[in-house]
Amino acid sequence: MMVGERVDGGPRSVIVVGAGVVGLSTAWFLQERGVHVTVVDRTGVAAGASWGNAGWVAPGLAIPLNEPTVLRYGLRSLLSPTAPLQVPMKTDPGLWVFLARFAANCRWSSWTRAVRANLPLNDECIEAFDVLTANGVHATTVDAPITAAFRTPDEARGLLGELRRMADAGQPVDHTGLDRDRLRDQVPLAADTLTAGVRVEGQRFLDPGDFVHALARAVTARGAAVYTVDVVDVRVRGSGVTVHGRHGKPLSADAVVVATGAWLSRLASGWGVRVPVRAGRGYSFTVPVDHPVPGPIYLPEVRVACTPYRGALRVAGTMEFRDPDAPGVPARLDAIIASARALLRGVRWEERTDLWVGPRPVTPDGRPLIGVVRAPGIYVAGGHGMWGLAHGPITGRLLAEQITTGKQPAALRECDPLR
Ligand SMILES: Cc1cc2nc3c(=O)[nH]c(=O)nc-3n(C[C@H](O)[C@H](O)[C@H](O)COP(=O)(O)OP(=O)(O)OC[C@H]3O[C@@H](n4cnc5c(N)ncnc54)[C@H](O)[C@@H]3O)c2cc1C
Repeated sequence: MMVGERVDGGPRSVIVVGAGVVGLSTAWFLQERGVHVTVVDRTGVAAGASWGNAGWVAPGLAIPLNEPTVLRYGLRSLLSPTAPLQVPMKTDPGLWVFLARFAANCRWSSWTRAVRANLPLNDECIEAFDVLTANGVHATTVDAPITAAFRTPDEARGLLGELRRMADAGQPVDHTGLDRDRLRDQVPLAADTLTAGVRVEGQRFLDPGDFVHALARAVTARGAAVYTVDVVDVRVRGSGVTVHGRHGKPLSADAVVVATGAWLSRLASGWGVRVPVRAGRGYSFTVPVDHPVPGPIYLPEVRVACTPYRGALRVAGTMEFRDPDAPGVPARLDAIIASARALLRGVRWEERTDLWVGPRPVTPDGRPLIGVVRAPGIYVAGGHGMWGLAHGPITGRLLAEQITTGKQPAALRECDPLR
């Protein structure tokens, strides 16, 4: 028998590259199955998209990005530097190829396929969080509806149409229409300009940075080492793999999971993975508020998400297709504020803190990449786009099952990275 090989054939040791919610969840569920795990990240825990996101665990709103309407909207917004969707005019050829593939997927058939692919992830995502928090991940998750607010009942039609299509594709979403008064009860921050709402029931929210750090502590407490390594290459060697950093000696193990979010394609493009992952960058910040915030607020017309956060409000928005490592553009934050200012009252915009930019890992077909690649012992997990926080733990659970049993769970068939 080769060193490191288990009698039942499953790997005994796994290196997880990427300490975001997806990598650390995979690490935790691998440990649950008796695997020895090492986690490496080039910067540290929650250094990518997993820190400053809106914190919604919202299966009811996990609506794929590749809607036909996004295409029309995207073309219009190319001409406006303050639009919530941004593609810099000077851009690399790889991004244009990605955008062309994304545009080709902006069809209802591809969108419906993405909704169906996400169904098993949506079905079990909340339960996967409960498994973590019941077993040593010391972080809080809060049950709450998410309330979408609109200037006019007519504006709500777009979201109601999306929810109808979600139901037709197999995911009924429990929601309630709100008139002006009921909206105000639900969202004390709503300005008078907002007159209608849609309350999406049965969702959750959390402090994502806090959650991911708690997950890292739990993974470490269960015996994993977490190292700072900027991984430049991953190779198959004998019956195992080696992970090469920019500096220092390579690490070896029986298998590796590459969970590097928006940077996934940089390591994974040589293993038969033809679906690219690109950064759809978003921005967020924290603002003090004068009224209580019982639950998350969604402003679909300006594409802004607001979440109760440490006694204040985290405000998140924008989809900017730009290099994940490029510095943040302050004008994008100003654009979020300019668009949301008239819709919320009692928000002290000038006192904003925690200014953050982070890269959503976006695929052109709205489906994540989870599973083994065309190199034995190498797995990828990423490309969850706007919903990687919600889908992180269930991804980890399903992938750990695949790694240890050698069988692809039915729930991951549509997320095959070799599609
Ligand atoms: C503004 C905004 C709001 C969002 N709101 C929500 C929300 O409400 N709900 C939701 O479900 N999702 C939301 N998302 C999406 C969610 O944040 C992401 O899908 C998710 O965090 C992706 O997690 P990940 O672990 O795949 O990637 P990341 O968290 O980006 O982690 C990748 C890690 O890989 C590391 N890494 C990269 N390259 C290397 C390398 N070569 N070597 C070693 N390490 C490397 C990075 O340092 C990073 O720590 C939002 C995103 C944004 C930007």
